[in-house]
Amino acid sequence: MYLFDTHTHFFDSAFDEDREEAVLRAVLSGVKKNVLPCCSEKSLKGIFDLCKQFPENCFPTLGLHPEDIDTQNYENQLKEIFNFEFSKSIVAIGEIGIDLHYMTDTLEIQKKVFEYQVNIAIERKLPIIIHCREAYKEIFEILDNYKGKISGIFHCFSSNKNDAEKILKDYENFYFGIGGVVTFKKSGAELAEIVKNVLPLEKIVLETDSPYLAPVPKRGQRNESSFIRFVAEKIAELKNVDIQTVIETTTLNAEKKFKI
Ligand SMILES: [Zn+2]
Repeated sequence: MYLFDTHTHFFDSAFDEDREEAVLRAVLSGVKKNVLPCCSEKSLKGIFDLCKQFPENCFPTLGLHPEDIDTQNYENQLKEIFNFEFSKSIVAIGEIGIDLHYMTDTLEIQKKVFEYQVNIAIERKLPIIIHCREAYKEIFEILDNYKGKISGIFHCFSSNKNDAEKILKDYENFYFGIGGVVTFKKSGAELAEIVKNVLPLEKIVLETDSPYLAPVPKRGQRNESSFIRFVAEKIAELKNVDIQTVIETTTLNAEKKFKI
């Protein structure tokens, strides 16, 4: 059984020196499938090239990340992104969402851009990859209007037990993207508790979010998809199951969600 990285930015400039090698390292270490979430119109070419070069291993999405919204020009950004054609079908709309960590003053535009893209996902019958930072309440307010119609992944889930329980109860077609943070001793402790006690394995997909958030024992280094095994190991330890079970279940979850 192979691993599935549901969130990796191989097209990021952090891989300019060794992009091909990084993909090959992932594949050789058992990470056979990788979803490459688009962030803005600037990501398109990089994703396109990788998906063409590694058709069995790299899968594209389309989306405008909340941090990449140009408040003066977002309509053109959206047009450019959603008119783009890859040589293969996209597997999701993402990453999209709301980020209130740095940018509270753009909340209204972020909401509008998010909702616009939720509607595209519904139209195209695709899951969404949600980027949500300190904005769970705002995301829920929008998703509540589309209950039962929309599915996807809460990428890098980072909220509390209550929000995890709400997602399980109210959004049954959603998964939790779990990555390096769960291995962090202090800042990952709450998430580890949630993974251990609240989330069934059937609701978890693995992700790296490379080049960011490298798991222990690689913490602080550039993250890459081949490190995803450390996340699977940590989840196995928390859930008290063998790593094979974690890999099999999370890969199956991801295959089901992305239909690949
Ligand atoms: Zn990302």
